[in-house]
Amino acid sequence: MVVPFLDLKAAYDELAAEAEGAMLASLRSGWYILGPDVERFETAFASYCEAEYAIGVANGLDALRLSLMALDIGPGDKVLVPSNTYIATWLAVSQCGAVPVPVEPDEATHNITAEGIRAAMQPGVKAVIPVHLYGQPADMGAIMPVARELGLKVIEDAAQAHGARSGGRRIGAHGDAVCWSFYPGKNLGALGDGGGITTDDPEIADRLRLLRNYGSREKYRNEEPGLNSRLDPVQAAFLSVKLRVLDEWNARRAGIAARYLYAFADTGLILPQVAAGVDPVWHLFVVRHPERDAFIARLAERGVQTLVHYPIAPHAQAAYGPMGLSDADLPLASRLAREVISLPIGPQMTEAQCDEVISAVRELV
Ligand SMILES: *Cc1c(COP(=O)(O)O)cnc(C)c1O
Repeated sequence: MVVPFLDLKAAYDELAAEAEGAMLASLRSGWYILGPDVERFETAFASYCEAEYAIGVANGLDALRLSLMALDIGPGDKVLVPSNTYIATWLAVSQCGAVPVPVEPDEATHNITAEGIRAAMQPGVKAVIPVHLYGQPADMGAIMPVARELGLKVIEDAAQAHGARSGGRRIGAHGDAVCWSFYPGKNLGALGDGGGITTDDPEIADRLRLLRNYGSREKYRNEEPGLNSRLDPVQAAFLSVKLRVLDEWNARRAGIAARYLYAFADTGLILPQVAAGVDPVWHLFVVRHPERDAFIARLAERGVQTLVHYPIAPHAQAAYGPMGLSDADLPLASRLAREVISLPIGPQMTEAQCDEVISAVRELV
């Protein structure tokens, strides 16, 4: 049996009837940039995230860049980022002219902590970007007071955490700006690129609306040098349909995660840990294995497709060669990059596929 890592075609098929109606209506509306479909999605998504405002943008990387711009982070500034995140978190900082300063995560949760932030402080640090990695929320209840005490702006990278909760409250406005990706493989994925930002702050929301649209509120009047980074209305129409099933689809992921956690409890694999006070959304189910690459190859022989998030830490990428950071500077991120493996998980995964992953993994460890 072949078990795909994630079956996007099956996800599409489940929504096709309703989604195609919504997208066709959008195509036939004659409105192709921003407009009613984007506004409808923004309203629904803000309310889903328990935030006052949502701003649709072109992708998750731009959501981060625009948020940094809206908070006036730029050349001369430093921004704390996790050492073990997807490289987009770092790139957004670099592209604003600021310098990413890596913070090692907590080994159990893979997320940065309030203590880690405090220990990493240095002159010039203006902001921190906690990432809710793998759909496991960072401890915002502990991070926010420490960030405020240190005078830091907080931008959350929630690209993997649609629907998650920290301290009983949805991820969406704990920090100053919360950044979302609607990349197809994300829990709330579009049919192409898409992104968004949620916030409770009316001034940040207003600035973001300008910045995503050439710095313009009124056509041909440009208040500041913005980007062209707008959520596409057809994608917004699709996302509005998908948002309605997001909780149910996240619950299916949680069911698979619960089965894996039970089935692998006695295997010696290092399993994901859910911190107290958070509700994860299981974007990924990431385990650690000391001989990761051989384990992947043997699972592949049995038809079980896996991925690695991420095989090379940002500091070790050629793109960050000039920063001169070595694996010895960030030993945990380096070790995680060698040991993590993401098992198949997704809302359309069948019980038989889940059984197959369980028996393949149990046989191999
Ligand atoms: C996917 C992702 C991004 C970037 O999103 P894009 O829409 O692909 O630009 C940023 N950060 C994290 C943690 C992600 O997983």
